[in-house]
Amino acid sequence: NLEQKVEIIGNDELTNLAGAFNMMSTKLSQVDKQRKEFVANVSHELRTPLSAMKLLSESLLHQEKVDPKTYREFFSDIASEVDRLDRIIESLLALVDIDKGKLELDYQVTYVNYLLEKLIRPLKPLADKKQIDIDFVNLEKVQIQLDRIKIQQALTNIINNAIKYTPEGGKIKISLYTEHDEVIIKIQDNGIGIPEESLPYIFERFYRVDKARARKTGGTGLGLAITKQIIELHQGKIEVISQLNKGTTFYIYLPQNIGLNG
Ligand code: ADP
Repeated sequence: NLEQKVEIIGNDELTNLAGAFNMMSTKLSQVDKQRKEFVANVSHELRTPLSAMKLLSESLLHQEKVDPKTYREFFSDIASEVDRLDRIIESLLALVDIDKGKLELDYQVTYVNYLLEKLIRPLKPLADKKQIDIDFVNLEKVQIQLDRIKIQQALTNIINNAIKYTPEGGKIKISLYTEHDEVIIKIQDNGIGIPEESLPYIFERFYRVDKARARKTGGTGLGLAITKQIIELHQGKIEVISQLNKGTTFYIYLPQNIGLNG
């Protein structure tokens, strides 16, 4: 009788162990799959501008006579591809640092209002070009500890996207407020929106709803991945709601006591 009991317990434990082992092995193969996908994506993304540059330079080489205007056009296209490569590599390096856990935050007591005003200013000309109005609703003065450079990068990515994915004459509304010990930054646009089926993927590395459009607007598909990591390093979270052809709203939540406990 006792033997039977032991055996049953033993079997249970074995089942648990087998379950845990299966879970671990599934997780490991998932990680391996993700790593392989990432390397494949990186190679593809780096190769695309290189192919474009090769094509552009070869077509110049194969022409007997090229007028200066065409020369300038081709070289300016080559220069944009170089810029694109540079942006991809810079973003990849930022992600590598985050993955290694090497990215240390340099917390500074900061007025979020001023930070927002400061980072919106250089984006205004970009918005003006498309006659997009950026409205910053500054409801309260909010002071928290954060890494100014990193948060500035994260918020700039979101506002840049709002400008990129909003047609001419659109509107972007940025609001800042606090709720339950949290600082909330809301960035709302009335642009092209994100299809519902794409929403779960937009924070993934290299994910773009419309690859062709994103390429034209200079997108790398890494911006939101970096933004999310930066926010999470601050123990915050980011959420998005969107409606196709109506607009997109990002919410960034930062705990008010971040940086205080190390
Ligand atoms: P990208 O460099 O392509 O902009 P991101 O990682 O910043 O990459 O964004 C991922 C994708 O999410 C974009 O390619 C775009 O399809 C979608 N997206 C992000 N922000 C917005 C927005 N405000 N409105 C519509 N689509 C957006």
